[in-house]
Amino acid sequence: MRIWVNGGLRDADDARLSVLDHGLTVGDGIFETVRTSEGRPFALTRHLDRLTRSARGLGLPDPDHDEVRHAVAAVIDANPVALGRLRITCTGGLSPLGSDRGDNGTSLVVALDGVSRRPDSTAAITVPWTRNERGALAGLKTTSYAENVVALARARERGASEALFPNTADRLCEGTGSNVFVVLGGRIHTPPVASGCLAGITRALAVEWTGAEETDLPMDVLAEADEVFLTSTLRDIQAVHRVDDRELTPGIGPVTAKAMRIFAERAGDDLDP
Ligand code: PLP
Repeated sequence: MRIWVNGGLRDADDARLSVLDHGLTVGDGIFETVRTSEGRPFALTRHLDRLTRSARGLGLPDPDHDEVRHAVAAVIDANPVALGRLRITCTGGLSPLGSDRGDNGTSLVVALDGVSRRPDSTAAITVPWTRNERGALAGLKTTSYAENVVALARARERGASEALFPNTADRLCEGTGSNVFVVLGGRIHTPPVASGCLAGITRALAVEWTGAEETDLPMDVLAEADEVFLTSTLRDIQAVHRVDDRELTPGIGPVTAKAMRIFAERAGDDLDP
């Protein structure tokens, strides 16, 4: 694997950041995960815009979009894969051991690995830990993802692939790496960004293309919903057939199936000419 690190491509074994990088010592960094299909990144402009929003939220300098695009093209070129997970990471850079950021500039890392298509349907659990919709990091895609690692491990222990968080007001928020949608009486709903969820790029497209409504939802909605589905860069739209111990429609519910069809058709359009 060839990885872009601070200005050039390196072999994975030789790609280095300082062990005192603030991204490593305190999780001071931001990232984007972009899907590539046959060497084409999906919705790269939207990802770069969100990277900039995350940088501003964290007080990192604005990433140089031309530099990132150049790095993305180089990494895609050097790592041919059919379906890829491209990760763009910007970190606080080399700094003293402490909470203050250093003044040695930030780091840019771009890496790509091949992935398989996710199954069309999966199981999810709910977790008691909360997303903090009023926290400084709410809605930012930072490298401080350890809470998601813990929640995902809990999901795996219970035979699921995603864990759904409430926010501090016990409203439905999002998954560790996905946004959540519920179907009630034929209508599709998803929590608003004010719930503390990430403004997912797939979520925004699903809302635009299916007419889903942004609705403040109690956690209990998961016990009543006719259908539940997840959205994310690598899942696109993925049906949920079980939430905790509750089995939902066997197979994929009709509203979710329609949303999947619409998404598959529209996502083929070149969003990023
Ligand atoms: N929520 C969180 C916490 C995420 O990490 C992600 C994906 O990376 C999403 C939601 C879905 O966002 P997107 O559709 O942009 O991948």
